[in-house]
Amino acid sequence: MDRILAVDRSVCGGSGTCEAMHPQLFAVGDDGYAVALKTRLVDPADIEAADSVIDVCPTEAILLTAAPGGADGDG
Ligand code: SF4
Repeated sequence: MDRILAVDRSVCGGSGTCEAMHPQLFAVGDDGYAVALKTRLVDPADIEAADSVIDVCPTEAILLTAAPGGADGDG
């Protein structure tokens, strides 16, 4: 099932761990907070990558949730 990836900038500490691990998914902006470069994850490899960063983000700022309205019916 697709996932929605987001960074809660109100708690992100700007450590850059997410960008260092998976620069295809995260970037730390000039303001010092991370943003998600992809917000809807379809590729299982992207979902696994995002999941692995959740475990190491020091402030638990990374949010990964099930995408609403999955079209293919077996999720
Ligand atoms: S790992 Fe977490 S705290 Fe560090 S920049 Fe990424 S989202 Fe922010």
